[in-house]
Amino acid sequence: MLDNFLLFFFGALIGHVVPRFPVLLMSRGRGFNVHFPPHPEAMPLGPHLNQRILHLRTFYWLSLVVVVVPLTVGLASVRWGNAAFGFGLWLAGGWLVINRLQSFIGGPKPPWTMGMAEQLQTVMNRSSSDAACCAWPVPVWGITEVRCSNCDARLLRLARPDLGRRRTDGRIMGLLRLLISDGYPLVSSEEE
Ligand SMILES: [Zn+2]
Repeated sequence: MLDNFLLFFFGALIGHVVPRFPVLLMSRGRGFNVHFPPHPEAMPLGPHLNQRILHLRTFYWLSLVVVVVPLTVGLASVRWGNAAFGFGLWLAGGWLVINRLQSFIGGPKPPWTMGMAEQLQTVMNRSSSDAACCAWPVPVWGITEVRCSNCDARLLRLARPDLGRRRTDGRIMGLLRLLISDGYPLVSSEEE
């Protein structure tokens, strides 16, 4: 009985983590982050940041493809192997599918969206126009808002999601934090 419980939780854990591998791993290497200051410093706005947001958005949706692996192994396990382990995989995998698809029916938006990249682009455009906050605007994305690091003006209220940098809270804690937050900002901006 206890064995089956443990196998169920083990299956659920694998089914939870495996589909998130793209977001957890793909952009964390040193070589992928040479254009960015180390986490958790404020992130300068620019084409590299927008590209990163669009990559993370792709990795986020890629989990719907990767989830086929735990679902298939789960099915095989229920049929020919350990049923508890298979159900664990199925439960976590199925939950991920529901979780990803709910944004289409009005649930919370994904942590990275095209709209987010567009908002940042608008801030950059304004900073290089006559309407800029000061003579040498340097927009950077802090934890809760985009502000100008030259004159400290607030340019956009938008909490910062995980940006795929190698996290400085340690490999294990960083991984746990990401698994819990799923990439969403841990603090919300005041506007929300
Ligand atoms: Zn400024």
